[in-house]
Amino acid sequence: MSFYHYWQQLDWEQLGQRIHAATPADVERALSRPRRTLEDFAALISPAAEAYLSPMAAEAERLTRQRFGHVVGFYLPLYLTNLCANDCSYCGFSMSNRIKRKVLDDAEVIAECEAIRALGFESLLLVTGEHETKAGMEYFRRMLPLVKPYAAYLSMEVQPLATESYQELVTLGLDAVMVYQETYHAASYARHHLRGRKQDMRWRMETPDRLGAAGVDKIGLGVLLGLEDWRCDSLMLAHHLSYLRQRWWQSRYSISFPRLRPCTGGNIVKHPMSDRQLIQLISAWRLLDPEVELSLSTRESEAFRDGAIRCGITQASAGSSTQPGGYANRQPELEQFAIHDARSAAEVASRWQAQGIDVVWHDASSRPSSLSCR
Ligand code: SF4
Repeated sequence: MSFYHYWQQLDWEQLGQRIHAATPADVERALSRPRRTLEDFAALISPAAEAYLSPMAAEAERLTRQRFGHVVGFYLPLYLTNLCANDCSYCGFSMSNRIKRKVLDDAEVIAECEAIRALGFESLLLVTGEHETKAGMEYFRRMLPLVKPYAAYLSMEVQPLATESYQELVTLGLDAVMVYQETYHAASYARHHLRGRKQDMRWRMETPDRLGAAGVDKIGLGVLLGLEDWRCDSLMLAHHLSYLRQRWWQSRYSISFPRLRPCTGGNIVKHPMSDRQLIQLISAWRLLDPEVELSLSTRESEAFRDGAIRCGITQASAGSSTQPGGYANRQPELEQFAIHDARSAAEVASRWQAQGIDVVWHDASSRPSSLSCR
């Protein structure tokens, strides 16, 4: 029994109706509870809750400071390759896009790591397209020992792997894996994943189960906001996290909030999400789960990030490049997507420190809760 079987029992339409039927009284009840259920989460992400944004954001900030202190952990994505054997309708790395392709070799990876170390980062996220032959286990076995000396905390965002592969990567220093379902809507998933292994929705959906079985410290989840109804997808994701917390309780979890951005090959934002709605969603997650890490990338604008940092975010990238080799030698034509907050990491840190948020340059989430006494 995996989450895939659990998901098969969930009805997208019914979840949508539950969310849209929520009333102001449901939202107020959810807000007043000391611990919230999935039913409360449905109310908090509903259209009815849009009028309660201020109290939701204030409570989200209170809970975040209580658990995590006035601290945000910085991480940096290191793109190893833009090769990909999939076609996703929303991504510049899709195999049918005629872009320049690059796989970093050993010397280039070390040059990237040196450049990243000079910036001060100790938490790295290795990113690849999904290409089993040129960037599969053989490549990872070579790369992790090169990168690990530069990373106090090492995460990966690559193609879904088998349990045994994750177990092996843990012995090479892997701490966390990000794997976003993109959407839990089966027809929409099929519509946007046109070629390659990623078409196998079940294989992807069961990846967090394999990560839990492999004993990976942290599992990062998310949906691609804008691809489908973000409310239904987020409630599905909340079910997924709830299932994982019960089954694989030894692992920690994070939620990311990728909103679709323009990319090479077109932009498919079927269900646009406003800034206020994204703040509502981030706040609702914190109200549902005071322990979960909430992560925000440079896809978002500086104005948005400066505001969102106050309502639940605990991890953020800054000064990111989304191209292989982009820290040692920038070539914009290799980028996966255009970043929106183009400030340097030092600028972001200084701005957030002025807002009373301390930045740590590694994974901050396992710090003791006594930090919250500030
Ligand atoms: S989203 Fe991932 S799998 Fe899809 S084309 Fe981009 S890199 Fe490849």
